[in-house]
Amino acid sequence: MNRSIEIFEEAQKVIPGGVNSPVRAFKSVGMSPIFVQRAKGSKVFDVDGNVYVDYIGSWGPLILGHASDIVSEGIMAFINNGTSYGLPTEIEVDIAKLISEAYPSMEMVRMVNSGTEATMSALRVARGYTNRNKILKFEGCYHGHSDSLLVKSGSGTLTYGIPTSAGVPQKVVEDTLVSEFNNIEKLEEVFNNNKGEIAAVIVEPVPGNMGVIAPKVEFLEALRRITKEEGTLLIFDEVITGFRMAYGGAQEVYNIEPDMTCLGKIIGGGLPVGAYGGKKEIMEMIAPLGNVYQAGTLSGNPIAVKMGYNTLTYLKENKEIYQQLEDKAIVLEKAFQENIKAVGINATVNRVKSMLTVFFSDGIVDSYEKASQSDTTLYGKYFKGMLEEGILLPPAQFEGMFLSTAHSDDDLEKTILANKKVLENII
Ligand code: PLP
Repeated sequence: MNRSIEIFEEAQKVIPGGVNSPVRAFKSVGMSPIFVQRAKGSKVFDVDGNVYVDYIGSWGPLILGHASDIVSEGIMAFINNGTSYGLPTEIEVDIAKLISEAYPSMEMVRMVNSGTEATMSALRVARGYTNRNKILKFEGCYHGHSDSLLVKSGSGTLTYGIPTSAGVPQKVVEDTLVSEFNNIEKLEEVFNNNKGEIAAVIVEPVPGNMGVIAPKVEFLEALRRITKEEGTLLIFDEVITGFRMAYGGAQEVYNIEPDMTCLGKIIGGGLPVGAYGGKKEIMEMIAPLGNVYQAGTLSGNPIAVKMGYNTLTYLKENKEIYQQLEDKAIVLEKAFQENIKAVGINATVNRVKSMLTVFFSDGIVDSYEKASQSDTTLYGKYFKGMLEEGILLPPAQFEGMFLSTAHSDDDLEKTILANKKVLENII
């Protein structure tokens, strides 16, 4: 890792922590990051000539693998025609139609540049629409880094938010309520204590940011029921799950129709794109139709949208890939479980569709509380061991592994062998 270390030293002089997003620093796994030279298919190549089977997949967008010809088809012609106009283009209409068709709850769609922008904007619209200020999120769910969403609850669930980050004014998060994912009783309590005041509930229908946690279907159903009763908008943050769990996302899988949905990651095919949408009546609140303001110099950027459009078109025409992705994830899940049992280590595997997390934890992990009790030091050792075996996992315990169509049987086999060897070594 010599060259990576050298670059990291230089990087730290000019970029805070040497990286442009904290988890990339590999801090929580106690090592220096690898610097990437290139990637293709399921493989990432670092600047030191090492090759890894990659399960980060840019944190979810690369469902068709790295540098996919499908995703970049026709992109040079687009680039040669100009990269940004600050004026509308037809491809923006095309992608909005594709999204709306796949997510019937998104009757209208606005394109933005990131998941953070999508959730931030959706909340503004929800507040404008309901004329209420409070929002409710769940501990351990991540919705990007906008001020009002950078909140954790502390020990109680019914308290007002405490900012997770310095620089977020207490006043900004006073209207952010926090509750426990998968806990219906606590959810009811929050609503009873804040009657007629909650504009929106925002939730990752399948949390991927405390590690992958399966939702209890009754919990998601309760969310839909209670929000409807209370005149609160239900916002599904499908930045990860959108076009990943299924073409129609978590809302299709669980058959729950939210009022608004946020998308990102896959819809940009690896370029910076986000989107939010919802019922026509709600989305008509947005300027220039209504008085909720939201804009963007590069929003709906034609190059980024074209990459997303290519991805979605392929997924639409090849929906069988979702079962194939899940089958691959099941192969890993089962083998990891067998290895865990054979080695006798305290660990458990959570899998939802093509997303997985190995928690170094005793027993089932179905809540933020249980996820946060897992042994992160052991995860760090596991991560390092796997890296040495040529397997690139998320460099943090509270993240998911993402399968892509590019992962081959050989990749899976190599990963399973490495998993066994590393588990044996770290116990
Ligand atoms: N929502 C979820 C569920 C996410 O996982 C993320 C990022 O990982 C975001 C929102 C924020 O998206 P972005 O990083 O594109 O701003």
